[in-house]
Amino acid sequence: MTETFEPRMTPAEAWASLREGNERFISGEMAHPSQDVARRHELAAAQSPFAVIFGCSDSRVAAEIIFDKGLGDVFVVRTAGHVLDTTVIGSIEYGVEILGASLVVVLAHDNCGAIAAAHEALTTGHHANGFVRAVVDRVLPSIVRTGNESKGGLALDRVELGREHVRNTVDQLYTYSAQLATAVDEGRCAIVGVEYALRDGEISMLDSRGPID
Ligand SMILES: [Zn+2]
Repeated sequence: MTETFEPRMTPAEAWASLREGNERFISGEMAHPSQDVARRHELAAAQSPFAVIFGCSDSRVAAEIIFDKGLGDVFVVRTAGHVLDTTVIGSIEYGVEILGASLVVVLAHDNCGAIAAAHEALTTGHHANGFVRAVVDRVLPSIVRTGNESKGGLALDRVELGREHVRNTVDQLYTYSAQLATAVDEGRCAIVGVEYALRDGEISMLDSRGPID
């Protein structure tokens, strides 16, 4: 926990690498890098992933697969609906500050069950049971934010809610985490929010903070 690695890539290089991997995945011509025995042995003592991927837990949005990466490449944190809490932010900070990742990707997707549950809670009053409700409760502020920005009351379009939830999550990471904000402001890290299309396999960027061009 004490050793700090130098970042291997700039934020722009990290973002380019993920986009290139996603393009291979879209076309079905994956390289399956970093998945052999030699790579496994090389990594046994230490890791220095170049990016943190914070995504929805959805079984169809497997982070290493959709970006065509392998062992030791990306530090992955996933919760249903990519909702944040303090241990999630702590895990993301660990990937950036201790392991030296130079990019944080918020990975959302279309037809997200957590977004649908939040949408249903607000439109019908029907709430999920158990701790699933805690997930939904962490999506709901994004609905309020959508309404504020449209100035026409609450905007309840599910697709737009999902996209606003991505932007809100990027904003929350930057504003809640002083470590991440400093890393972004110093140019050694960037945060991007993307939406993954389940059918096409393509990612679309919705928001970003920091130097990715
Ligand atoms: Zn989801």
